[in-house]
Amino acid sequence: MTEKLIPNKLIPNKLIRGRLLSFKRAPLGLTDTDSYSYEHDGALLVADGRISALGDYATVKAGASEEVEEIDHRPHLILPGFIDMHLHFPQMQVIASYAADLLEWLNTYTFPEECRFVESGHAARIATHFYDELLRHGTTTAVAYCSVHKASADAFFAEALKRGMCMVGGKVMMDRNAPQGLLDTPEMGYDETRQVIADWHGKGRNHVAITPRFAITSTPAQMKAAQALAEEFPDLFIQTHLSENHEEIRYTLELYPQAKDYTDIYAHYGLLGPKTLLGHAIHLSEREADVLSETGAVAVHCPTSNLFLGSGLFPMKALMRREKPVRVAVATDIGGGSSYSMLRTMDEAYKIQQLLGERLNPLESFYLMTRGNAEALSMTDRIGTLEPGTDADLTVLNAAATPAMRLRMETVKTLPEELFLLQTIGDDRAVVETYVAGEAMKNGLEQSVA
Ligand SMILES: [Zn+2]
Repeated sequence: MTEKLIPNKLIPNKLIRGRLLSFKRAPLGLTDTDSYSYEHDGALLVADGRISALGDYATVKAGASEEVEEIDHRPHLILPGFIDMHLHFPQMQVIASYAADLLEWLNTYTFPEECRFVESGHAARIATHFYDELLRHGTTTAVAYCSVHKASADAFFAEALKRGMCMVGGKVMMDRNAPQGLLDTPEMGYDETRQVIADWHGKGRNHVAITPRFAITSTPAQMKAAQALAEEFPDLFIQTHLSENHEEIRYTLELYPQAKDYTDIYAHYGLLGPKTLLGHAIHLSEREADVLSETGAVAVHCPTSNLFLGSGLFPMKALMRREKPVRVAVATDIGGGSSYSMLRTMDEAYKIQQLLGERLNPLESFYLMTRGNAEALSMTDRIGTLEPGTDADLTVLNAAATPAMRLRMETVKTLPEELFLLQTIGDDRAVVETYVAGEAMKNGLEQSVA
């Protein structure tokens, strides 16, 4: 860190050596080697939090200053940090709650737990654990829902700023169908969101998202307030939930009888566009998929959550190959999701496609967790690849991290086989190190709960 304090002298502060993997576009198949770059003995030069060079080790080393600090991660894989496109920061103590389905899970466990985030001390404590957990799992950027309380958004963004992480988050707007302690009003939701934007948007690497929880918990008046925010701040992300389970869809349409379908509610209030992130979107009609495609809104697939809550099988491949393709991203959806790990997430995504008779190959999975999610955020100029000029957010993976993995690795011959092994039986133990803006963050994390 001290180098950065020396004025007018930008010292390349780290040379990170290992096997480098970075995607250039979505892979078309297992043999599509043009879709990624791979350096067997590669190195990244990191200066001032950014990647300043990448290539084979000898070339990068030759271009580096003599005093550069060298970190050797061989034989491990170095990838861009994972991106998690949808999760709930106040649900760390909701994960693993036994419920029949979405609405029972929300009412019995989730809403009471989120009420506690009115207290800033509680919000700050959970924020610490939240970022520890992301980093332990190799995730360097996430798109999160806070609770309805501004204090929760303050804690969320303050901790991101402290760690230098690129995060997207929003104070949830909800003004009905939840306990009193979790309700704002259309005016409060509007005013407090504006305040969160003023306090945090653009500070460090923080991005604020306009966050109406979903149509069930927002009155038409609140949807109008969300629309006003979207018009006033067109650069902001918008996140909400769409078509997660059948009972939710039925109840939503009862609350908005004029709407053609669930998607039409968000369209009606001007909330669909290329910066809109729609959690789940499992049970869409052809008309709804067309609307998503035409507006550029992103369907965010949360496989462990969909299976855990029995919500349904997301037709990811079918949506991607439509004549009017739908943009797709992937996420954990903590705490409806059952793992913080993007590796575990893609394992379940693979199984869901299997049940639908589709194939999801490991190159696609690793593309989705990194560059694919960055494309969904329109942020590939900063994150999701190892391109020079982007932020040095990295995940270092060891495909032989456990005895079972080590044994299986003896028979692995190709890079896709190694990736598939990582995805199928890997978890946080496979994450050797996580870098945020060039700083190693994983080792040294608290191992106990404070
Ligand atoms: Zn969610």
